Amino acid sequence: MSPYRLYKRICTVLALLSLLVMSACAAPTAERSAAETPQPRKIEPKGKVYYSYFDTVSYVYDYAGDSAERFDERSAEVAHILSEYHKLFDIYHEYAGMNNLCTLNAQAGGEALELDEKLIGFLLYAKEMYTLTNGEMNVMLGAVLRPWHECRERASEDPASAAIPDEDALREAYGHTDIALLEIDAERNTARIADAAASIDVGALGKGYATERAAEYLEREGAFGYVLNIGGNIRCVGTRPDGSGWVTAVRDPFDDESYACSFRISDTACVTSGVYERYFTVNGQRYHHIIDRDTLFPAAYFASLTVVTRDSALADALSTALFCMSAEEGEALARRIGGVELLWFFPDGETRSTPGFAALYEEPSQS
Ligand code: ADP
Ligand code: MG
Repeated sequence: MSPYRLYKRICTVLALLSLLVMSACAAPTAERSAAETPQPRKIEPKGKVYYSYFDTVSYVYDYAGDSAERFDERSAEVAHILSEYHKLFDIYHEYAGMNNLCTLNAQAGGEALELDEKLIGFLLYAKEMYTLTNGEMNVMLGAVLRPWHECRERASEDPASAAIPDEDALREAYGHTDIALLEIDAERNTARIADAAASIDVGALGKGYATERAAEYLEREGAFGYVLNIGGNIRCVGTRPDGSGWVTAVRDPFDDESYACSFRISDTACVTSGVYERYFTVNGQRYHHIIDRDTLFPAAYFASLTVVTRDSALADALSTALFCMSAEEGEALARRIGGVELLWFFPDGETRSTPGFAALYEEPSQS
């Protein structure tokens, strides 16, 4: 039995953001005499929206009461960081004056390529995540992901001719996905893909990694009370002004227009992977975008999986990797890592969560 109260709520995707609310709070410390009584004042949250990164919509919110100038400065720098990583991670386009992952893929089987040290840092992290997740999240799965991607694109252009990739071709492609094919020389800042038929795809990790770098910048700045929502990858920096967390919600994976539950988070990341995010349909059967390396088909364990952990890159890596293993295996891995809370929705509508997740639950009426 589901231990959670599922409630229905008709709303748009953007309504998730309306759940990120703040409350009245004391004014920021100002010089005042001992006799003066601090007057509570309500800080109006400020928000900026960007449409240009990672094929998704990005929001930056400030609940800390920064001046308009400071918020403009900080949100512009967040956008700049996202823009840089967007270009470095793009596997479909190259950009003047830089080698990015598209260049690296094009050069597969050839010479090593000099890369921006930010990209080298990311590639090293991607390998770490491969090891941590026992290979379930593998950025070198490009050769298998590409045919699935092409079928999804074709299906969206012409649903009547929708088809799935050829299974023999998928098996052949899997022979070109060994993580060791990605060779990195961190001393020289170079990398190479050692097989012309192999390619990198960082869809599982790139957005969360870039989000974390933006959060890192805000933390360095001393910003406290910011929320980043980068295409649904939520990263809170600090808390609301009264010290509490923000209310966020997980979509009901069986009803596009409802949320299944809500909970409070602060100073942490929250990432959900779901079968409803990107998919296509063939003969009434849905094929979503997370591929299980054991079957080379969309992972069949869950309808959605939510990860709450401080680091948004780790949350993103785990949201994909744990989608491809049983809840028991996922929970064991989360326990080993520590500080990771999980909420699973199974295809039959049942749910399960880690013990610490229950502490985050929030009744909707209290927001
Ligand atoms: P979202 O697209 O919402 O960010 P995910 O973080 O789960 O969702 O990433 C899914 C993307 O990751 C896919 O579109 C594909 O590009 C890539 N991918 C799918 N399966 C795997 C896998 N097993 N390992 C690594 N990358 C994967
Ligand atoms: Mg992911």
